[in-house]
Amino acid sequence: MTRRLDAPRLVIATHNAGKLAEFHDLLAPHGIDTVSAGALGLPEPDETGSTFEENAALKALAAARASGLPALADDSGLCVEALGGDPGIYSARWAGPDKNFMRAMRNIEEALEDKGARTPEARRGHFVAVLCLAFPDGHTESFRGEVHGTMIWPPRGTAGFGYDPMFQPDGHTRSFGEMTASEKHGLPPLGLGLSHRAQAFVMFANACLRPE
Ligand code: IMP
Repeated sequence: MTRRLDAPRLVIATHNAGKLAEFHDLLAPHGIDTVSAGALGLPEPDETGSTFEENAALKALAAARASGLPALADDSGLCVEALGGDPGIYSARWAGPDKNFMRAMRNIEEALEDKGARTPEARRGHFVAVLCLAFPDGHTESFRGEVHGTMIWPPRGTAGFGYDPMFQPDGHTRSFGEMTASEKHGLPPLGLGLSHRAQAFVMFANACLRPE
């Protein structure tokens, strides 16, 4: 049985201001007030898991246990099929301490060239986002969203962040870097959830937020 969120206040287990703002906007229409782990002075746990699910759960559980409130965390990344799923859970780390995503995208391109991956079929990739809702008693609910597409070169567009300019989702002629935020996320009522994060959020909202 899926456990629903019955508290009006939810800790967002992130110290990232961008993610906090995004979750605040997504949750406000559901009447849920958010507070960040950072604002509560909670420490940021090390991401020691070997999967997106493990990392999302360890962040959500740490915040729920320390605050006594339900907590929501996400973990996300880009997986390139020809590279055995890299950079995967290490997507942020590939950009280095200076968060240089142009360099991270170039590293992916060089690795694809080394493999001789030139056709769209050889350049498949997908973004993953796992959302984990954790309760103070240790119960968790997890939701995984994925969006599949092609790794393009050169990168196109300046919108979004991270690897967006190098990723063209299936069924579209523009990269995520060339889309507005509302096109990229494709959230209801206008869309059904295009981005990995929007899909995971729609699953979470349907399972844990809507009244039965
Ligand atoms: P984390 O979820 O904060 O651990 O970091 C995920 C990393 O994956 C980000 O730093 C980005 O590099 C990459 N990533 C995740 N989602 C997206 C996206 O929607 N667009 C571009 N890059 C993303």
